[in-house]
Amino acid sequence: MKVIKFGGSSLASATQLKKVYKIVVDDPKRKFVVVSAPGKRFAEDVKVTDLLIDCGAKHLLGETATELEQAVLTRYASIADELGLGHEVMERIERDFKELISSDKTNPDRYMDRIKASGEDNNAKLIAAFFRSQGTEAHYVNPQDAGLFVTDEPGSAQVLPESYENLYRLQDRDGIVVFPGFFGYTKDGEISTFSRSGSDITGAIVANGVKAEVYENFTDVDAVYAVNPAIVHKPKEIIELTYREMRELSYAGFSVFHDEALVPAFQAGIPVQIKNTNRPELPGTRVIHRREATNGPVVGIASDGGFCSIYITKYLMNREIGFGRRVLEILEGAGLTYEHMPSGIDDLTIILRENQMDCHTEDTLLDCLKNELSSDEVVIEHKIALVMVVGEAMKHNVGITARAAKALSDAKINIEMINQGSSEVSIMFGVKEESEKKAVRALYNEFFN
Ligand code: ASP
Repeated sequence: MKVIKFGGSSLASATQLKKVYKIVVDDPKRKFVVVSAPGKRFAEDVKVTDLLIDCGAKHLLGETATELEQAVLTRYASIADELGLGHEVMERIERDFKELISSDKTNPDRYMDRIKASGEDNNAKLIAAFFRSQGTEAHYVNPQDAGLFVTDEPGSAQVLPESYENLYRLQDRDGIVVFPGFFGYTKDGEISTFSRSGSDITGAIVANGVKAEVYENFTDVDAVYAVNPAIVHKPKEIIELTYREMRELSYAGFSVFHDEALVPAFQAGIPVQIKNTNRPELPGTRVIHRREATNGPVVGIASDGGFCSIYITKYLMNREIGFGRRVLEILEGAGLTYEHMPSGIDDLTIILRENQMDCHTEDTLLDCLKNELSSDEVVIEHKIALVMVVGEAMKHNVGITARAAKALSDAKINIEMINQGSSEVSIMFGVKEESEKKAVRALYNEFFN
């Protein structure tokens, strides 16, 4: 059996839904269909999830949001209309949505999560109805009924392990199972969503639960590219890559597949096949355990901006017991997560995502790092981009770092920091945000042209 997940742009209109239906019925093994909320139909369009977030926010402020509510319902109604689905589905969606909007707001995060989740929930109901209207047996399945339980962390829920066993029983269901992505239920019966784009995570969880032979993830690009096509024109497509390579790439800016969606598939050894709903005949990209090193040592180059680095120096840091622990305690106390921490003899650098800090947090943090640790110097640098060169086969190849560093120096780019993870799956360069694209192009030319 296969689990097949469709992203928002694949479900944005009636035309797209017809393609989806054809893809599903083309292969009788495609029994479990996981769906996102309707996404963008064209570049300036607004995703239903974003409409819902604005709508929920207004209600939480005690304002009315009639236009937004109407915009959400119109998206479903126009799809249902064009598919000739009759009134029943829309009546149900409208009724549920109105009830939801006026539901209890005492816990704003929970309220918001309920509203957000309705995007996929209603879409799954509509899609199941559409499949049935085409003469195919299909049923909407609610994640609570299926036993998809998650932690109580609104907006960043994590699956609870017992869910997998519960979901295994989905195999006994008749016909096609249409399952809403993006959320599960806490043990107290509250809806909790995954982070944004989290329907990929649901797909992977369902694939793990039902022990699927493959997790097919349908989106709107032909494949995962070796580099962001917005930076390099017509880059090379990646045919095959490992879970670890994909994780590194999606961490640093590859948005094709959610980085948290890899673990459930990886744990069960289920390959992930990324394909294009608009060109399903193309092979797409396959994510697997191990690959033949056919693509050369480097499989892709990713980059992401929005980081800052905090450089701490103190003479004899290497001999001071507990220094690192105290740095981390200060971060913990400030409620900050760090991404990387390369170190030297008398210094270390902490790389953080900048969006977690306002000026006040930053001042307090720098003050603590300087005074509580009696550091010689603490310096923060803003607007850092991380550029990652990714490939498992780099481990067995001599000179990759030298080639990368030379490519950057030839392009006159100053390397602020360099870090090679101990797994040797990636080499990371910190550069100024303004040099990010230039750095990516230089590295792409070095390894792919
Ligand atoms: N609809 C949700 C979002 O826009 C989840 C998803 O599409 O995967 O983030």
